[in-house]
Amino acid sequence: MFICDVCGNDESVMELVAEVFEVDGRRVFVEQIPAQVCAQCGEIVFSRETAEKIRRMLHGEAEPTGVVSLELFTFV
Ligand SMILES: [Zn+2]
Repeated sequence: MFICDVCGNDESVMELVAEVFEVDGRRVFVEQIPAQVCAQCGEIVFSRETAEKIRRMLHGEAEPTGVVSLELFTFV
C-alpha cells in the first residue's frame, strides 16, 4: 500500500512521468516512466522494479531514443 514519504497521505494515482537522472556526471532525461504519484503533494514514487529497470537502462542496456535540449534556470 502507498504511503507518501513527504506528507503521509495514502492516496496515489498511477501516472507516466518524466525525470532527470544523473549518471556518471551526465544528466539524462527519461520519459514515460510509470510511477505512483501522491494525490495530495505530487511526490513521485517508483516501484523497486521500475527503479531497477531505469538503472539498468542508464548503465548501458539501452540506447537513448533521442536528444533534447533544455532551458536551464539557476535559482538565485
Ligand atoms: Zn504526499
